[in-house]
Amino acid sequence: MTPTQLYIDGQWSDATDKRTFAVLNPFDETELAQVASATTEDMARALDCADRAQKQWAATTPRHKAEVLRKAFEIFQRRLPEFIEIITLENGKAKSDATGEANYAAEFFRWYAEEAVRAEGHYGMAPASGARTLVHERPAGLALLITPWNYPAAMGTRKIAPALAAGCGVILKPASETPLTSLLLMEVLEEAGVPAGLVNVLPTRNTGPVIDQALNDPRVRVVSFTGSTEVGRTLLAGCARNVLNPAMELGGNAPFIVCEDADIDAAVEGLMVAKMRNIGEACTAANRIYVHDAVHDQFVEKFSAKMAALSLGNGLEDGIDVGPLVNASTRNKVHQFVEQAVEVGAKLVVGGTLPDGPGFLYPPTVLVDVPDNAACAQDEIFGPVAAIQRFSDEAEVIAKANNTEYGLVAYVYAGELGRGLKISEQLQFGMIGLNRGLVSDPAAPFGGVKQSGIGREGGREGIREFIETQYISTVI
Ligand code: NAP
Repeated sequence: MTPTQLYIDGQWSDATDKRTFAVLNPFDETELAQVASATTEDMARALDCADRAQKQWAATTPRHKAEVLRKAFEIFQRRLPEFIEIITLENGKAKSDATGEANYAAEFFRWYAEEAVRAEGHYGMAPASGARTLVHERPAGLALLITPWNYPAAMGTRKIAPALAAGCGVILKPASETPLTSLLLMEVLEEAGVPAGLVNVLPTRNTGPVIDQALNDPRVRVVSFTGSTEVGRTLLAGCARNVLNPAMELGGNAPFIVCEDADIDAAVEGLMVAKMRNIGEACTAANRIYVHDAVHDQFVEKFSAKMAALSLGNGLEDGIDVGPLVNASTRNKVHQFVEQAVEVGAKLVVGGTLPDGPGFLYPPTVLVDVPDNAACAQDEIFGPVAAIQRFSDEAEVIAKANNTEYGLVAYVYAGELGRGLKISEQLQFGMIGLNRGLVSDPAAPFGGVKQSGIGREGGREGIREFIETQYISTVI
């Protein structure tokens, strides 16, 4: 049985007002569990515990922190099947996607176990004054972590692991659609030896006031958020009050460019990953697909055949490639994108029809000749819809790709590496998949530019969000 209560100070407890909310299975809309909904009093308690535990944790050696994180990786690996099942049940994604996510999520513990012992610092003489400068890194303090529903395990571990490696204490507010995975994760951390109070999980339906309670507490120093740009803006305004360090992983609108000299089969495979991983419910999902005129028809034929062959159904069943979308509003929005695109002139090649309920299934869909004024050519689709456009001029397609407020990830398929690199360098995005449809890697700095975010997660950079630099000046 997966826990359903709040996790505060190493204890499971009901919310102070005993309120709960329902978590549904998106495949058939049945209720999976009633989960405790934290109040501001619960948040106040979590802040006190996290503050106490953080001071003790910060004083432990880097090696100790590393070993606890390494144990968390091993326990997570051992319990992988439970995570795959709970991710599939509450998010809907197919077991194959949930397996990918669970492995990715576990890897953040291993990576940051290795990074925990690599803190930097230096001692030297200021050239002009001769004063001695000692520079060292120390934990920022308490971190508030807020995660979305599309990667319920990985978005949590991608924040918790570097925070603990840095010596911070954390309070995690998981998405209301998918709190069960985060609660299960607490069993892993407890067994790994994370001290009581250091990591707390507070699901809540009373999000605004509960988050505000933390934002207004001077002990909180970092807000690490993954989610929509809209909520990111609200949180940035909240961070301004106490001048908190914001780490923001926000929305995307990824272009996927296929040049005329690209390996077409490889580009088709790459787009299958970039578009269909996680049913398109990924900030990294290919959103605007630009295919050179000379290879357009061949590309569309091969890609459409693969999309049409995907099996749709209950993500828990073997052989299912595509599970349901997370909720009714996500599915309705995806369908509206398709209908509006067709209205303004796009041609439907595969999919595009709403299956009968219950549940939130949506078929893999391919649209071609999508005009620029189609909403799906401008906004994040967040579903299994590939919107393809033609191009003939390289400079024009680069300008089009950059013509968005987002800047998370772009994909480029080009035959010649030098050409691919040249295009990549002109793209205003934090990450580029060059002849690859996948960029997420715990060892690499994940993050965007422009309105896709601030800061990086993963890689050597990810820990920086949770540390501050102190410099001591002295004369000897
Ligand atoms: P969302 O609506 O922004 O919600 C994300 C989290 O913020 C949830 O925990 C949500 O809680 C919470 N939240 C909502 N309103 C809030 C408020 N006023 N103050 C504080 N917290 C608040 O995003 P989503 O729909 O779950 O996720 C989809 C979005 O996330 C997409 O835009 C996607 O691109 C983005 N995303 C980005 C990355 C990245 O790394 N760049 C990765 C994954 C997803 P409730 O669930 O209780 O509302």
